[in-house]
Amino acid sequence: MDVDALRRDTPGTAHRIHLNNAGAGLLSRQTLTAVTSHLELEAAIGGYEAAARERERIDATYTHIARLLGGRPEEVALFDNSTHAWNAAFYSLTFKPGDRILTGRDEYGSSVLAYLQVARRTGAEIVVVPDDEHGQLDTAALADLIDERTRLVGVTHVPTSGGLINPAAEIGRITRAAGVPFLLDATQSVGQFPVDVTEIGCDLLTATGRKFLRGPRGTGFLWVRPEALEYLEPHVVEIQAATWDGERGFTWQPGARRFESWETGYANVLGLESAVRQALDLGLDRIGERALALGAYLRDRLDALPGVTTHDLGAHRCAIVTAKIDGVPAAEVAAALAGHGINVTYTVPEHTQFDTEHRGVHPLVRLSPHYYNTEAELDLTVEAMAGIASGG
Ligand SMILES: *Cc1c(COP(=O)(O)O)cnc(C)c1O
Repeated sequence: MDVDALRRDTPGTAHRIHLNNAGAGLLSRQTLTAVTSHLELEAAIGGYEAAARERERIDATYTHIARLLGGRPEEVALFDNSTHAWNAAFYSLTFKPGDRILTGRDEYGSSVLAYLQVARRTGAEIVVVPDDEHGQLDTAALADLIDERTRLVGVTHVPTSGGLINPAAEIGRITRAAGVPFLLDATQSVGQFPVDVTEIGCDLLTATGRKFLRGPRGTGFLWVRPEALEYLEPHVVEIQAATWDGERGFTWQPGARRFESWETGYANVLGLESAVRQALDLGLDRIGERALALGAYLRDRLDALPGVTTHDLGAHRCAIVTAKIDGVPAAEVAAALAGHGINVTYTVPEHTQFDTEHRGVHPLVRLSPHYYNTEAELDLTVEAMAGIASGG
């Protein structure tokens, strides 16, 4: 990987040490141009006319995402973020009293709220599967818990709150054997390392454009296994999702498009097309290898600092690194690092409720490098963390 060339094509690397790729990755110059040139085209010839002219590249977005995930273009629906994609999947399932939703401790805040709402509304029950000795979802416990009451297994692949990688493929083997739908929140994993729906065996997968995929903000997508369409009833219907049959009925669009909205920000879609194409060109294997190695590099060095501890769980850990400095609140650490030109953020207890209940360690400083970061940037960050830890 030619990191220097990739950095030259990433304007943000010239000004900051960007370690907030779990928040939003830096746009490449090509992706930035894809977005702005479409806005220019819309202004010049009209929004509908611009979309018609770019139809092929808009369609290519689905093809690229399908290639990225190991699926087919008709199994992909585009959204404005991952949460809306996830909601489209989740709220299309029906629950009755006594039905169970099995999830993990690392589930994302909005998904937990959705479970709580549906539980309150329908009498379904939320069961949090415990972790194993590595701190990842305990697949043996999941296999024990899954039964005829289980209506859904909803799991987060990589949480927003740490370096954990959940054993998604093992979970998939269990859900497939049990015939239970498996909704995988892959928001932090897609773009960071290879994620393949066939290997994992999930039925529904959601992701966002702006994080490790480096797409523009306001993009996301849902992947749906075709068999899942038989039991999913999209929770809204509109003119993109279905066609009027000329009488008093309608027919759903074939494939995953039935989950989409008619109006879409095509500049963002074309930015996503550019970002996904770049990820494919670089190769997810290579991206993953470098991103995870940078995560490990940073984690090891932070752990070696007096007064600093890292808190990432799991047998396999990714590029997200979470840490605490004794006696210094995470928000203060993040602000101090910002003063050094280093972008990081901190975890929010309410955004991973079950993890917060269980571990009580949040907020933590969250540092999330990506393949375009350098070891030298990480060394400077460790130095700055050491300074903060020693009261500097
Ligand atoms: C960021 C995040 C989401 C939500 O993604 P949006 O695109 O902000 O809606 C969901 N799950 C996880 C694990 C996340 O980190």
